[in-house]
Amino acid sequence: MSFGRGAERDVERGFPHLAEVRSALTTLYRELSPDRVRGFGVSVLPVDVAFDDDEDLTAGVRRIAGVMVRHLGLPDVPVEVRFREMAEAAWVEPSDGGAYTVELNQRFDAHRRDIGAVLAHEVTHVFLHRAGLSLTDTGADEILTDTAAAYLGCGWLLLDAFRQDALTSQKLGYLTPEEYGYVLAKRSLAIGEDPRVWFTSPQAYDAYGKGLRRAEHDAAQPPLVTAGWAARRGYEAQRGLARSGRATPGVGAYRFEADRDGAGQRVVFDCPVCAGRLRLPVRGPVRARCGVCRTVLECDT
Ligand SMILES: [Zn+2]
Ligand SMILES: [Zn+2]
Repeated sequence: MSFGRGAERDVERGFPHLAEVRSALTTLYRELSPDRVRGFGVSVLPVDVAFDDDEDLTAGVRRIAGVMVRHLGLPDVPVEVRFREMAEAAWVEPSDGGAYTVELNQRFDAHRRDIGAVLAHEVTHVFLHRAGLSLTDTGADEILTDTAAAYLGCGWLLLDAFRQDALTSQKLGYLTPEEYGYVLAKRSLAIGEDPRVWFTSPQAYDAYGKGLRRAEHDAAQPPLVTAGWAARRGYEAQRGLARSGRATPGVGAYRFEADRDGAGQRVVFDCPVCAGRLRLPVRGPVRARCGVCRTVLECDT
């Protein structure tokens, strides 16, 4: 995995990878099954990854890697640890048997509090590899890995590793701080766990807030009944335009299309939980079940 250190302006911010992050969430629900995803209901806790200066470095890395291995439900085989000079922060061999091999950048001896975050990312690579979900495109694979780590309960550490002061900044992984916040907030809204109590970094806390607003926005879009009054009015206007045969521009998080026999309309929108696509006939209040994550959604189409 990569790590970034440098001036504050070097850290990418906002939501540049949002589409890929959302598609990664859909992949997790679709490929692992909704029950398996919801089985990660309790996150790795700060006490599990605490690492003080008295503990032997290699033993501590092995111990924390074991925390991630058990959290993700991987076979509990030994973890070999090596330190070396390298450009990356860490690397893991996703071996299919025997032992896991983790290589860490030597600098982590002086940055023990970030080792949990690094291992969360690396062991999630192993988890995705074993689930057959690793992607050949490296950039997409890294985004899937960080999204999976955050959504499955060990990646809040990656956001907490984001720290800035007046002169320097450091960040781990491939999502922006706000995108980590978004995935963590999606998890929080789905399973009711609030990670804010664990953050030690004020910048992580702020980025979580921005991600949470974005996730709450997703959950308040028509045709969901949780949409606000103004969004609802916009929806009705767009629906009227579509009904009269006029093209509806892509306003909002939904669009209208003719249904299969051409007699009526359907609304197409994204599930607020897994970002999978839903299509519902336009005919008023309806309770729909998402085909990907199985969430029941109260809608007014
Ligand atoms: Zn990686
Ligand atoms: Zn869904």
